[in-house]
Amino acid sequence: MLLLHACCGPCSMYPVDFLKESGRELDLFWFNPNIHPQFEWDRRLENLQKAADHYGVKLIAEGECREDYWKSGEYLNEFNTRCLMCYDVRLDAAAKFASENGYDAFSTTLLVSPYQNHEAIIDAGKRKSEKYHIDFEYHDFREGFRKGQNMARDIGLYRQKYCGCIISLEESDFKEKILKSFEQ
Ligand code: SF4
Repeated sequence: MLLLHACCGPCSMYPVDFLKESGRELDLFWFNPNIHPQFEWDRRLENLQKAADHYGVKLIAEGECREDYWKSGEYLNEFNTRCLMCYDVRLDAAAKFASENGYDAFSTTLLVSPYQNHEAIIDAGKRKSEKYHIDFEYHDFREGFRKGQNMARDIGLYRQKYCGCIISLEESDFKEKILKSFEQ
């Protein structure tokens, strides 16, 4: 059984579809303290649950919104960029949970995005694999990114317009529109 860390519903569609078609059994694992604000954290988790229900897979939700930490910049002491820290924190939790709960491997839907640092995600996965003595199952899901986004649209999932952290919201071209959506 694979533990598939999931960053959101839309990015889960293609990987879950692909893995199920391949006969791989999996549970989804939500651990994304990077996603801000709380409203958005709740909204993405809710839409991930819809994706899980669509495929009939179990979703395990852990952790909380940690806006304070992403704002603090403390991580720059340890990591070169906030994104490296972001992959590390999330894959650490996934690998630990997988190791402690009888899974044979872990992976992540972050591997579907052409906008993420793919090689850095692989590095983080390998480091956590060694740390927790569990396989990191690598798939290059990127070829299915567009297909997955279309599948998400077809089942009515919310598709976000920023990566997730408070800094990526500040930098988004759609910032005003996103802020308005928090008021609805
Ligand atoms: S831009 Fe995305 S990957 Fe980078 S720190 Fe923000 S949420 Fe994490």
